[in-house]
Amino acid sequence: MYRIPFNWPSFEGQEQAYMVQAVANGHISGDGPFTEKCREILEKQLGALKVLLTPSGTHALELIALLLDIREGDEVIVPSFTFVSTANAFVLRGARPVFADIRPDTLNLDETQLERLITPRTRAIVVVHYAGVGCEMEAILETARRHGVAVVEDNAHGLFGTYKGKPLGTFGCLAALSFHETKNITCGEGGALIINDPQYIERAEIIREKGTDRARFFRGEVDKYTWVDVGSSYLLSDLLAAFLYAQLEVREQIQAKRRRIWEYYAEHLKEWAEAHGVRLPYVPPHCQQSYHLFYLLMPSLEERQALIAHLKARGILSVFHYQPLHLSAMGRRFGGHPGQCPVTEDVSDRLLRLPFYNAMTEEELAAVVSALKEFDGWTRRMN
Ligand SMILES: *Cc1c(COP(=O)(O)O)cnc(C)c1O
Repeated sequence: MYRIPFNWPSFEGQEQAYMVQAVANGHISGDGPFTEKCREILEKQLGALKVLLTPSGTHALELIALLLDIREGDEVIVPSFTFVSTANAFVLRGARPVFADIRPDTLNLDETQLERLITPRTRAIVVVHYAGVGCEMEAILETARRHGVAVVEDNAHGLFGTYKGKPLGTFGCLAALSFHETKNITCGEGGALIINDPQYIERAEIIREKGTDRARFFRGEVDKYTWVDVGSSYLLSDLLAAFLYAQLEVREQIQAKRRRIWEYYAEHLKEWAEAHGVRLPYVPPHCQQSYHLFYLLMPSLEERQALIAHLKARGILSVFHYQPLHLSAMGRRFGGHPGQCPVTEDVSDRLLRLPFYNAMTEEELAAVVSALKEFDGWTRRMN
């Protein structure tokens, strides 16, 4: 057991009461009253055309791949530095993932590589706002438009972040959110599809309802519902939506807590990082981040591993992050090879994430910072 865990699921107060209410409502399957409340909050806050809750972020990405009619032989550009679902959702439909490298500053997809990676087979560019810091959306949208390629946002990290004042998740035609236990807002397992282009709304409802027009039936638009398209079951139980609503309701408090944690680290580690050649997260001035995580980029892999062990010996769990997808067993089947995404390869070896959870106390933060300052496993002397 760690004295200070890496993550701790947050309970903000009303989760249990609302779940009991969901049972009392007599509606615990999908699209019940709590789903409706969550949808309203998300659509309003994001200014999104339509939000549909899903059982996970992965399912939202799968729904996107179905909506875009991704088929065998299509190519989809994804960053190599991301979670497997960003690529897997499209691979499931037969697409070939084309791995893009990341920018060394924000660790987001390097938009200057797109021109080189786009081919006549490219159907979509999937961006990930790493750590909830926006990708260079203006350049990405412009390149995609020129080539007639769809832009999708995997916004699992970036709920409530903005790029040039506009919410992350509202730039692509479609976007995915995750409410996994490790995310800012959670219901254990959950997600959402954000639809920003009206042409996808009706079909999204059908695919999500097992390929039936059940949603139209419930609105009274048809007098019976039937099988009209391919589909699957992509609804979140209203029991989980009740949990989620308890969190969404207090989203501002949650974000304020996370901001305090992020700023504590940034402020108390600034000099230490400079003295030892450690790089702290970079947030461009035109991005409002979502305070999803706090990372250190250590000078080397050896120092990263030594620091993880050092913190572990003090009861503090720190963890590395994504291993390059292009070098994974699956990635290599699609031609991934060393040297293909050099920034990703370098960063994934050196990056370490510090404990970060809503309930983290000032004492816990101070303990992490002082443990970091006791580290003496530097392999290079900095002047
Ligand atoms: C968490 C995450 C996902 C998947 O979300 P689930 O809800 O766990 O399926 C996808 N992409 C990224 C970048 C993530 O961090």
